Amino acid sequence: MKNKYDILIVGGGLVGQVTALACAKLDGLTIALADGRDVLSDKNGGTDGRASALSASSLRFLNRLELILSDHLQPMRDMLITDGGIGEDPVWRLHFGPDASDSDVAKMIENRHLYVALRDALKAADQIDIIGPGHVSDITHTTSGVFARIGTKDITAQLLIAADGSKSGIRNRAGITTDGREYGQRALVTSIAHSLPHDGLALQRFLPGGPLAVLPLTGQRSQLVWSDKSAAIEAALAISEADFMAELTLRIGDHLGDLSLDAPRQSYPLHLQLAQDYIATRLVLVGDAAHVIHPLAGQGLNLGLRDAATLHDVLKKALLTGRDIGGAVLREYAAWRRSDVTALATATDGLSYIFGAPKTVLGRPFSKALGHVRRLGLSAVNDSAAVKGLIMREAAGDIGEFPEFLKK
Ligand SMILES: Cc1cc2nc3c(=O)[nH]c(=O)nc-3n(C[C@H](O)[C@H](O)[C@H](O)COP(=O)(O)OP(=O)(O)OC[C@H]3O[C@@H](n4cnc5c(N)ncnc54)[C@H](O)[C@@H]3O)c2cc1C
Repeated sequence: MKNKYDILIVGGGLVGQVTALACAKLDGLTIALADGRDVLSDKNGGTDGRASALSASSLRFLNRLELILSDHLQPMRDMLITDGGIGEDPVWRLHFGPDASDSDVAKMIENRHLYVALRDALKAADQIDIIGPGHVSDITHTTSGVFARIGTKDITAQLLIAADGSKSGIRNRAGITTDGREYGQRALVTSIAHSLPHDGLALQRFLPGGPLAVLPLTGQRSQLVWSDKSAAIEAALAISEADFMAELTLRIGDHLGDLSLDAPRQSYPLHLQLAQDYIATRLVLVGDAAHVIHPLAGQGLNLGLRDAATLHDVLKKALLTGRDIGGAVLREYAAWRRSDVTALATATDGLSYIFGAPKTVLGRPFSKALGHVRRLGLSAVNDSAAVKGLIMREAAGDIGEFPEFLKK
């Protein structure tokens, strides 16, 4: 195995792997992908109990990378959003079919299936060498290249891509700081089996402790993403399956019939974290290393995929014009990504604030203004075909300027 590459990607999570495959579409580039875990192992990703709502544009991208996903994709045809307590009526319904073509709706996939498809594609990609498993220790950035020690190997590259997740050691070593806030919440994720079909319905309830989403998976199964104060989630992890299902039925009702657990319960801490900069000398941040947002809109991975697609375009332009792939072209990447990420992070943070505030304190409205925003916001959306259309296009990822891989 060589030790000199054009691109070194550290972090073989979903975003790092997709970035490697996207860069491999650029003729002649050599790519090394390093992770502390064994990226090519059958067990890779098997412990990630999350599922992702992939926008239509993200699906086009993964399709163009020739990932085989179709058996595991479940279209989301209906979205039902309710504000407030148990037993309250739905206030908002968004229907994507039957006129919406299958290629225009977002689809759910369990992350474990994404990992399998990515592993198979990586195995077939001659331009990509997998380094490790090994953690990255020493890194030196100079104007002529990047030098990194991974396990016992020394690697040099023209460009280092940090895809090493929210705690990114590479970002920290490069002195890039982050802004954000802790939500004081965790998200409990698991999948449930049910006796009645979901008909492609995605349900989102804004409960007093945080949003609870029930998202359709293949078969008679749904993914649960239940955000609440950390102590409440710890308690929900500890109770028996029967008690857990009883608590869940109280919150979502009985429209899915009898419920049972289909996977172990896991939980993730929730915070907003945005890197102050997305680039440094010969360095680019992608995925959670660059931005972590609240999962209530299911957009974190979609953002990471847009990072990968944008970087592909910027590097392609550099190659076509004979410019250094680790040089000034990276500024274009940073500018392009910042506007997209900031818009989405602001929207999801705003939603979590508006719907996270209590409706009443001691029987009186907590905030009249917030109450109006909640009511007006949801009912205006419900009544407006134009706004609904906009949201549907946002869910499809069809808003804004597109990198090549995401275009229709
Ligand atoms: C509850 C929940 C639900 C979500 N639902 C959705 C959804 O529906 N749709 C959506 O779009 N997004 C969703 N997201 C967001 C999405 O899951 C993340 O944005 C995405 O998984 C981030 O991937 P990543 O590859 O950037 O980071 P990670 O998955 O964290 O990968 C980082 C990788 O870097 C490796 N690494 C770290 N440090 C080193 C080192 N020093 N050396 C070598 N390797 C290293 C790690 O081993 C790991 O493999 C959700 C998030 C949560 C918490």
